[in-house]
Amino acid sequence: MSHFTCPHCQKEIDIFSRGGAEHTARQYNLPFLGSVELIPSIREGGDRGLPVTLAGPKSPQAAAFYDIAEKLMIQAEAAAAAASNVIEIS
Ligand SMILES: [Zn+2]
Repeated sequence: MSHFTCPHCQKEIDIFSRGGAEHTARQYNLPFLGSVELIPSIREGGDRGLPVTLAGPKSPQAAAFYDIAEKLMIQAEAAAAAASNVIEIS
């Protein structure tokens, strides 16, 4: 989760500090997959058993999840391709 946008003044509040996950990903040479804004409707949908992703990738609330999933899929495909190129010698 990343920032929260105040519904009263629209100011972005960095609840968990900004860039921490990106920094850690760089530190461990891992891809940073993205961040998800803290949006009350995401929690509300989850509580009702209706994840925000059901609204599709064009939903502003769901877009970050689809973006992260796509990046994760690319990483998984690359890892699978690298694993299939391994030649075992016994
Ligand atoms: Zn405010």
